[in-house]
Amino acid sequence: MPGDYDTLIELVRETQTLASVQELLDWDQETYMPPNGVTARAEQLATLAKTTHDRQTDPRIGELLDKIDGTLNDPLQAANLRETRRDYDRAVKIPSDLIARIAKAGSHAQKAWAKAREQSAFSKFEPHLVKLLDLKREVAELIGYEGEPYDALLDEFEPGERAETVAKVFAELRGPLSEFVRQIAEASTRPDESIVRREFPRPAQEAFARKLAEAVGFDFESGRIDVSTHPFCSGATPSDVRLTTRYNERHFSPAIFGVLHETGHGLYQQGLDSAHMFTPMGSAVSLGIHESQSRLWENMVGRSRAFWEHFYPDCRAAFPAALGDVSLDRFVGAINAVQPSLIRVEADEVTYNLHIILRFELERAMVSGKLAVRDIPDAWNAKMQEVLGITPANDADGCLQDIHWSFGAFGYFPTYALGNLYAAQFYAAAQRDLGDLTDQIRRGNFKNLLDWLRVNIHRHGQRYRAAELVERVTGKPLSTGPFLSYLRDKFAPIYGL
Ligand code: ZN
Repeated sequence: MPGDYDTLIELVRETQTLASVQELLDWDQETYMPPNGVTARAEQLATLAKTTHDRQTDPRIGELLDKIDGTLNDPLQAANLRETRRDYDRAVKIPSDLIARIAKAGSHAQKAWAKAREQSAFSKFEPHLVKLLDLKREVAELIGYEGEPYDALLDEFEPGERAETVAKVFAELRGPLSEFVRQIAEASTRPDESIVRREFPRPAQEAFARKLAEAVGFDFESGRIDVSTHPFCSGATPSDVRLTTRYNERHFSPAIFGVLHETGHGLYQQGLDSAHMFTPMGSAVSLGIHESQSRLWENMVGRSRAFWEHFYPDCRAAFPAALGDVSLDRFVGAINAVQPSLIRVEADEVTYNLHIILRFELERAMVSGKLAVRDIPDAWNAKMQEVLGITPANDADGCLQDIHWSFGAFGYFPTYALGNLYAAQFYAAAQRDLGDLTDQIRRGNFKNLLDWLRVNIHRHGQRYRAAELVERVTGKPLSTGPFLSYLRDKFAPIYGL
């Protein structure tokens, strides 16, 4: 007869297997499903979601957890228990009728948001946002928190993280970042960004993006790249990872760096330990740690001069009309142009985190009740002026630009900036451990870096929470230092500072 732990893990594996089927159906819906499949697919997904939730809240899990609690010495089993307990507690605290109400409100809100954005009229979205915010506050109260309600929501995406800690880190980041953006704006040297907006034929982009993904270590026997409106990485299992991208023939960056970004997510998924598949030990730590892997490959590696010293000859051969007359230096400048802009998803590495800080401060104030929903447009515009020195002309380019709030995802945004900070801190540690990492990249050798990430991060699954993982891998708690030095080292030469 199997022991209690094995019985528990079997239940967990079944639930996560169902969740991975949901992911595959989602992927299919975004890539290949014919338009008329939408009604049946909604039903399939709703049934699976309900079944998954029933399993997550199966009282047998609670009984087994109580029985096993404190009896295990194996650290891997203990990690599985800790995270199973967290998932179970969160799931049973929220009644299924509240989940259904949130899903319904979210689906109305998303439609209203899309219309409001089209017409740039926040008032059309406002009542939906008020409702979602109320529902998510209810969730926060049911789940409970030590500091403030926002913590309970943030915890969904970044387990164990607290608003207060994030606020402290962001406060350290904000001043130096704004100052650096100002210095760059006043620099006498400016890269010619128009180079990346020339003609880049799609077939050549597809082939070149695939070549880069393969070169850095993405295994196409265990994954694939397809096209979707919004790029994502769906990692059902380590041996089946689905990346998506989109192509714009008048812009080099979205597909090429988009693929490198999603490849970073994909390498993490492929690096998880398949012996622990469908359990916490075989799953990613958090959205922030996931994003650190994508940003590391996209930016620290993929936008570095060393990377292009290796790949630029091939790149030029792939796009002779656009790049034939462009030197390596001008190209590296163009892919790293910095410009305060209104839209987060188009922001460069230097200004990006300021977009996140703005959103974090606003949503934290919304959740605590300090900021009324109707005041969001004004608060947004004022903060935009404060952090980036620009003001959107309308709400579509301001507070209506992101989809997140329309499905009630409060607490999601900070994980993007945490990802950037984790990435820089991991990368500095990899440089320390691997010695001539920049030279290795210059030679097109990415194996040591990938092995380092596999050993230090990927294969641990959820053994450590993000804060502990960072400290174990880098020897220090999360700090802004490595990210700020990385920016300065990289952008000072480009802008002649
Ligand atoms: Zn990402």
